Amino acid sequence: MGEKEGTKELGIYLHIPFCVRKCLYCDFLSAPAPLQKMEEYVEAMARELREESFLYTDYSVKSVFLGGGTPSLLPGDSVKRILQTLRRHYRIKEDCEISIEVNPGTVSPEKLSSWREGGVNRLSIGLQSASNTELKALGRIHSEEDFLNTYHDAVKAGFNNINVDLMFGIPGQTAESYGETLQRVLSLNPAPAHISAYSLIVEEGTPFYENTPELPEEETEREMNKITGEILSCHGYNQYEISNYARPGYECIHNQIYWTRGNYVGFGIGAASMVENIRFQNTASLEVYLDYYLKRKREKEVKSERQVLSQKEQMEEFMFLGLRMTKGVCGEEFRRLFGASIDQVYPGVVEDFEKKGLLVRGADPDTGEERISLTPFGMDVSNVVMSQFIFL
Ligand code: SF4
Repeated sequence: MGEKEGTKELGIYLHIPFCVRKCLYCDFLSAPAPLQKMEEYVEAMARELREESFLYTDYSVKSVFLGGGTPSLLPGDSVKRILQTLRRHYRIKEDCEISIEVNPGTVSPEKLSSWREGGVNRLSIGLQSASNTELKALGRIHSEEDFLNTYHDAVKAGFNNINVDLMFGIPGQTAESYGETLQRVLSLNPAPAHISAYSLIVEEGTPFYENTPELPEEETEREMNKITGEILSCHGYNQYEISNYARPGYECIHNQIYWTRGNYVGFGIGAASMVENIRFQNTASLEVYLDYYLKRKREKEVKSERQVLSQKEQMEEFMFLGLRMTKGVCGEEFRRLFGASIDQVYPGVVEDFEKKGLLVRGADPDTGEERISLTPFGMDVSNVVMSQFIFL
């Protein structure tokens, strides 16, 4: 597309729903599939990207995120092909963050260099744990050795913006073994630019839900969360969101779009979009998606109705997404968007949480405007705080 940049900004999410096999805790939209299905899917996605592009001619794309599933499982040059289609039909900013989720053991040096050529500049590698026993308990396909090979191949291919995903609350995990995982990740050379650490949630419909293994005590999980912050801050990482830590300048642009309620559009099955406060979602059915884009059948089923968010819904999202970030939410921005202050819309709520030590008011270092954010204690019980910003 031409050089002139659109005035508005957009994030693009591309869902790749394929995995080698299902992990025991996974409720993401993903499944194993033969090579041919993956190739058909890439073809369908390229068509979706082309056909929808006229809707976004006013926008400049500042982030692209290939998530899944396991996007790194896509064969050969598929990722490059998807990115070429994007560049032809969308305004991609020069400094656009282009991330891909990678599972250890599913990449080769050839794939990595093909992604680099395609413009990928950020990798997110799902390690979860450096203990092979814990990985096995999760039903992951890889070992720590697979991770190390993938990581070093990625560094050799020239990637310097790498996230490593970790998990705590794994069956059989202790605070010591989790600390060991953290230390092993930090001893990588070079250490990753970004680390995400999420706790394991047992979701309905997963093998873990049907047959829940013994999990670490809640107290142990809290301890794991605490040591994440302590160890990572000693190593120069800033916690910028409840579960995300980055070296300065390496905060994930794509995720920040979600937390600040920026515009994003999703392609591929199950992908959700929110553009100018209108939400919509693609079908979760691979069959429907392929039938529509490859055979022109089942048009009505491929995209959901567009849902315009009410002002109340926008306010709720502003609060519970914004408070996920350590910098919190800006009071003036709330007033500019909604014509009333946070205290007027949620009388007494912030004050009450301030007294309990869960929220704190402060001034934005750049603008001086008031910001409200979670305290470290508030982060521990963030669900309780967020729930008070939902209108009943
Ligand atoms: S690799 Fe990720 S998406 Fe795939 S099954 Fe495991 S948890 Fe789910």
